[in-house]
Amino acid sequence: MLKRIDLSRDYIRHKKEYEEAIEAVCKETAFSGGKYADRFDREFAEYIGVKAASGVNNGTSALHLAMNALGVGEGDEVIVPANTYIATAWAVVYTGATPVFADCCEDTWEIDAEDVSRKISPQTKGIIGVHLYGQPFDFDAIKKTADSNRLFVVEDCAQAHGALYNGKMVGGLGEMGCFSFYPGKNLYAFGEGGSVTSNNTGYIDMINVMKNQGCRTRYYHEVIGYNMRLEGLQGAVLSVGLRHLDEWTARRRAIGHRYLSEIHNDRFDMQSHPSNTDPVFHLFETKVPDPEDFLQYMSRHEVECNRHYPVPCHLQKAFDYLGYKKGDCPNAEHLAEHCVTLPLFPEMTDEEVDIVIDLCNKYGEI
Ligand SMILES: *Cc1c(COP(=O)(O)O)cnc(C)c1O
Repeated sequence: MLKRIDLSRDYIRHKKEYEEAIEAVCKETAFSGGKYADRFDREFAEYIGVKAASGVNNGTSALHLAMNALGVGEGDEVIVPANTYIATAWAVVYTGATPVFADCCEDTWEIDAEDVSRKISPQTKGIIGVHLYGQPFDFDAIKKTADSNRLFVVEDCAQAHGALYNGKMVGGLGEMGCFSFYPGKNLYAFGEGGSVTSNNTGYIDMINVMKNQGCRTRYYHEVIGYNMRLEGLQGAVLSVGLRHLDEWTARRRAIGHRYLSEIHNDRFDMQSHPSNTDPVFHLFETKVPDPEDFLQYMSRHEVECNRHYPVPCHLQKAFDYLGYKKGDCPNAEHLAEHCVTLPLFPEMTDEEVDIVIDLCNKYGEI
C-alpha cells in the first residue's frame, strides 16, 4: 500500500543528523526553551525573511498568542475562512471573541476578499487568512479590504512553509505569520511545535513573555501567561529539517506540477494556482464527483488517499451556537463534499507518482 504520506522515509534517510541533534540537547539538558529552541527561532526568522520569530508548542498556540498580542477579546469578531483546518477558528474562540466565517473563491479555493468585505461589522477587528494546502491566498486583495476598514491581517501559514506570493515568502506579509510543525507539515517536529513570525518585534516580544508564564525574569510575572514554549528537542530537530526544507519543497513542487499537467480525466477538477504565487503543495487536493467512491477505488489499487476537510468550519457541531446553516458558504461546502487528497510527500519515488497518475487517468474506466 502506498501511503498518503510516509514520514519514516525521511527519518531513515537523515537518521544520523537527527540523532546527533537530539543527543546534543540531551547532553546539555536544554529541554524546555533554551539554547536549541532559541537557535531555531533565529534560523527560522532568517529563512522566512522577517525580523523575529517565536517558537511555541504548536500551531494552534501560535494563532492564539497572535490574537492575544493584537488585543483580540470578548465582543470582538475576527473573520476566518470556512475552508480551513478548525484550529484557525479556535484561536479566535480562545480569546473570547467570535469567529465569523467567510467563503472561499470558486477557482483558488482560498479565502474570498469579496465575501470578507460582506462579513465586516462594527465589531470586526481583523482577518486571519489561511494559505491553505500550501497555496498563498490573495494577500493584496485581503489587505486592501483590511486597510480600508482598519483591520489587521494575520497569516495562518501552517500549511505553507516557503510558499511565495509576488516573490515574497509568506509569514512576513501580514502583522504576523503563524506556523505549525505538526508531523506531516512541510517542516515538522518529532512531536508538536509552532512559530509566530513578524517584522514587528514588539509582537514577538509580547509572545515571548506570554508563552513563558508571563515572565521575562523568572518568578516575576508581568502579564497573564501560558506554558506554550517550544521544547529544546523540537528546536534541534527543526534545525535539521530547515536545512532540508528547500530540497523537500522542490520535490513537492515537482510532484504537484506533474499531477496538474499529467492527470487528464474530466472527472477531476483542480485548484487554480495564480501566476503571482508559487505554492508548496502541502496537500494535493482535487475535486471528484464522489469522494468515497474514489477513495475505495484507490484503496483497491493499493493507494491510500484521504479527505481535507469533510465538514467546513461553519457547519461543525462545535459551532452550532453561532447559528450558521447549509448554504451560508456555498463554495466551501462544495469543496467539503468533493475534495480528495492524493499522496504527496517529498520522498515519493517517480514510479509511485506514475502509479497515482495512471490510476487517476483510468478512474471511471477500470
Ligand atoms: C495544522 C494546522 C493548524 C494547527 O497547528 P497544530 O500545530 O496542529 O496546532 C492551524 N491551521 C492550519 C491551517 C493547519 O493546517
